Amino acid sequence: MPKMKAAIFIKPGRIVLDEKPIPDIGPLDALVRITTTTICGTDIHILKGEYPVAQGLTIGHEPVGVIEKLGSSVTGFREGQRVIAGAITPSGHSSACLCGCLSQDGPGEKHGFKAIGGWKFGNTIDGCQAEFVRVPDAMINLAPVPGALTDEQVLMCPDIMSTGFSGAERGGVKIGDTVAVFAQGPIGLCATAGAKLSGATTIITVDGVLERLAMSRSLGADHTVNFHETDPVAEIMRLTDGRGVDVAIEALGAQSTFESALRVLRPGGTLSSLGVYSSDLTISLGPFGAGLSDLSIVTTLCPGGKERMRRLMSTISTGRVDLRPLVTHRFKLDQIEQAYELFGHQQDGVLKVAITP
Ligand SMILES: [Zn+2]
Repeated sequence: MPKMKAAIFIKPGRIVLDEKPIPDIGPLDALVRITTTTICGTDIHILKGEYPVAQGLTIGHEPVGVIEKLGSSVTGFREGQRVIAGAITPSGHSSACLCGCLSQDGPGEKHGFKAIGGWKFGNTIDGCQAEFVRVPDAMINLAPVPGALTDEQVLMCPDIMSTGFSGAERGGVKIGDTVAVFAQGPIGLCATAGAKLSGATTIITVDGVLERLAMSRSLGADHTVNFHETDPVAEIMRLTDGRGVDVAIEALGAQSTFESALRVLRPGGTLSSLGVYSSDLTISLGPFGAGLSDLSIVTTLCPGGKERMRRLMSTISTGRVDLRPLVTHRFKLDQIEQAYELFGHQQDGVLKVAITP
């Protein structure tokens, strides 16, 4: 059986590069040869044992590659075509998908819904930090890459850009809105870019790393707040003349940023939460308006599927956004353990790494 290299979860604290068989595919699948992939903050949660996955699973959910082989029932694609697939790979036929909740896909469930069920790569099936990946439901999930775009130009589409943009979209950002974004890691930076594309005219971003605040300005922030220097809530209320923001996007997954996001909302505003939380949240009575302040709190898991990927790539090919600066470091697949070390410890100003064969 032909083998390939893959980054495999062994136990908490250990993801290693090893050999495993090249995946078999079913009639609706595709085998994609990976040409570029990356490591996500979620993979670090897996590495640390904070998010459980099966021992022996191949990690990674951000594939850019070439179709190596198509399942016998797949039409509309050809072998050799450059494609991406979203981090979330919905079946397309569950009740959740038919309700538009592609990320909560539950095709085998009694009611057709499964929380986080759309996230399969590197979670419930083998992922793409490998030479090859099996893409399930290929006709729903393969998105051809426009010829003019490089791998690095589209590398953020499967997850970071889709998730970040959805922070603005799910928050209902409108033309002329004032938006605050808490945390400017890769997803927060994409939320900033998404808020700008959605028409926000005042964008205030919060982080504690100077390079990230500088990148934030280049992607659309009008004001940046360094939480080491000033209290973000007081500063945002000062910048908005005491009014607060229309939409506050939380892009970290912590009580402190969630609460700050709530505290800077104008009455009737929307808190759009993107972070992955690892402990219970509490909501303070005052900022919650005792339940009477017409607030909305929305949460989002990265949208996937080929139409989502097409839309994201269209914003890149038309020059509306350029996320190449987020790729700060490059490694070969053979060096992926080093890449985990650097990315996991946020060394050397890393934002995202590109991993190539
Ligand atoms: Zn991710």
